[in-house]
Amino acid sequence: MMRLPSFERYPRPIRQAAVSIVGWRNRMRRFGHEYQQWRDFLQQSAEWPALQRDAWQQTRLGALAQSARSGTRYYSELLPVMEKIEGASSLREALNLIPILEKSSLRARPQDFRNSMVTEVAMTSTSGSTGSPMQVGHDALSIQRRFAFLIDQLRLADVDPKAPSVRLSGRILCEVGKQQRQPWLFNAAENQLFLSSYHLDDVHAEAIADKLGSFLPVLLDGYPSGILETLNLLRRQGRKLDSLKAIITTAETLHPETRDELIALSGVPVMDYYSASEGIPFIQQCPHGTYHVRWQSGIFEIDDGTTIGFEGDGELICTSFVQDRTPLIRYRTGDLVSGLSLQPHGRCKCGLLTPTVEKVQGRVEDLVYTVDGRALGMFTYRTLKYIDGLGETQVIQHDYSDFEVNSTVSDGHDPKVLADEVKTSFERALGYPINLRFNRVVQLPRGANGKVRLVISKVARCGAVRS
Ligand SMILES: [Zn+2]
Repeated sequence: MMRLPSFERYPRPIRQAAVSIVGWRNRMRRFGHEYQQWRDFLQQSAEWPALQRDAWQQTRLGALAQSARSGTRYYSELLPVMEKIEGASSLREALNLIPILEKSSLRARPQDFRNSMVTEVAMTSTSGSTGSPMQVGHDALSIQRRFAFLIDQLRLADVDPKAPSVRLSGRILCEVGKQQRQPWLFNAAENQLFLSSYHLDDVHAEAIADKLGSFLPVLLDGYPSGILETLNLLRRQGRKLDSLKAIITTAETLHPETRDELIALSGVPVMDYYSASEGIPFIQQCPHGTYHVRWQSGIFEIDDGTTIGFEGDGELICTSFVQDRTPLIRYRTGDLVSGLSLQPHGRCKCGLLTPTVEKVQGRVEDLVYTVDGRALGMFTYRTLKYIDGLGETQVIQHDYSDFEVNSTVSDGHDPKVLADEVKTSFERALGYPINLRFNRVVQLPRGANGKVRLVISKVARCGAVRS
């Protein structure tokens, strides 16, 4: 088969045209009748009490199960179980009938999860932490439903969806490691500037600051690491984006210290959201900082290691109402949250009345493991927030007592002193002595998809049953 050159090797006019063509196609695909119906439904159902929400979810689960067992090989094999779902007396009872879906099953036999009764219009490929990609098909109506939620989050921040926005993602837009006159591409269909997160350095700072200064973005969205670098670049240039109204982050874990820094640098609300490209439901942060569980997009369960319930701390298990082509029913996400609560204290200042989550902790594999069998989430946050002089920091755990730290260092701070402080702080949290290598870096290294992972652990949990 003939190999086409990588995207970034095409001449700029071709890349520019490609971005806009895809933009127009996406725009057509996203804003149809189903989208409008779901925008309306989100308004209508905004004040539903818990009982009404549960009943709606149970009906929806029944319909999803019926479609999945008629259209997919995997769920048709579970037919005897799936047929009992409609007769269940509660949402809990209905869910308990269905086995948990592991990522490895979806990855190993993607064809068996394609719903033959639903037309596929797009496919996404996710590179998992194991390196083997997972391919997931998508349908037009589910894409429209997902956009109803994304646009609803913009509404909360009073951002017009047609206003100029800048996206920072892991996409390679132009050749990395080469100086670029214009390290961005413009998507005319959506008034959106794709800024290359691989060129946010001093060589390109002036060009980027000038471009953003004339583009007047109202929204910055994408990876928090890229948005933070962009704002720092502008600060170094002595520039500020007065046009900005909001920042929306996703795909990487947004740590509280990063959120604070983004707010301090930009002066606008920062709203994170949780979802994933395979089409799992949404948890969206509003301008007031509350993580709202968007129950209309699916059912969230929590596995705390011993039981699976609707509240508490642990790993998210999702059933998606925004993914018909590849039904995800009780899908184990590998993502951790804490403080999922069905009955928070009344209505949020943003107007939403929903279950809430205290924190999105990150990926299961982002935990640091201790020699005595503990698993520590939010490790960089809990150990590094009081050390003055550290910028963005990445922790790599090579062994239970062997750590490597990559960090940017503010001017006027001695990396040797910082290394000692980091070591002391780690040992306090871990409870035992460690070896630590501290590397001062200009920029944190990026992993698959250009994402920055703040914690990488290469050890297994002591005494862990599940791999
Ligand atoms: Zn809110």
